[in-house]
Amino acid sequence: MRIDIITLFPEMCDAVLSESVIGRARRKGAVELECHQLRDFAFDKHKRVDDSTYGGGMGMLMMAEPIALCFEDLCERLGKRPHFIYMSPKGKVLTQQRVRELAQLDNIVILCGHYEGVDQRVLDELVDEEISIGDFVLTGGELPALVLADSVSRMIPGVLSDDLCFEEESHYNGLLEYPQYTKPAVWRGKEVPEVLLSGHHANIEQWRRENSLLETARLRPDMLKSAALTEKDIKFLRSKGII
Ligand code: SAM
Repeated sequence: MRIDIITLFPEMCDAVLSESVIGRARRKGAVELECHQLRDFAFDKHKRVDDSTYGGGMGMLMMAEPIALCFEDLCERLGKRPHFIYMSPKGKVLTQQRVRELAQLDNIVILCGHYEGVDQRVLDELVDEEISIGDFVLTGGELPALVLADSVSRMIPGVLSDDLCFEEESHYNGLLEYPQYTKPAVWRGKEVPEVLLSGHHANIEQWRRENSLLETARLRPDMLKSAALTEKDIKFLRSKGII
């Protein structure tokens, strides 16, 4: 898969995407990530990409044409029209389900807004989808774009060491992950649950499932309503007085 990010701060995005798991995955070719400087598509000598808003107001708005030129250049270079996403606080809030769907695509292009955002006409004409990372406002779309690029990239086979890494994680199956522990077995008098030291795989699996249910009930009870619960899960939650 290839992800292209259109931004006024490509070095900022590239720096984050060059580190750790995603950086390694890029270097071994499991995922392609490219950051593009929007100013390269400015059409005046000052490399200007923003202007004041019609109707008045304090802030500046990113102009449509440089964004359109940058996207069209990418379409030409890729030889196809990729799915075009604008990171926006007005968008649909990102979920793990949407991340999984996006990871099935061959290409996505992510546009980072800045200042007051971008001219509505570019959204109407070119953008396929607006995505928010939550109901709050940041100064720019770079952090949201990095959140999206990271979460999508780690769903691509070969990016993580083992696909089980994400299949057992929070949100993948509609539940939160069970609590986890590492060495030492006793820390400041607090012991790791005995079953995890037993080596008994079936018991450990059962403990993990039950504690995934308990963790979800404790921290995100809203998620239990839509989780795919088995008869055994329901029986367990009833025995705990949760449902
Ligand atoms: N005037 C816009 C509004 O009220 O909807 C907010 C613009 S914000 C200051 C600048 C840019 O940051 C946006 O164009 C968008 O790309 C990005 N941004 C801010 N908050 C975001 C969020 N929660 N999710 C995704 N992108 C966000």
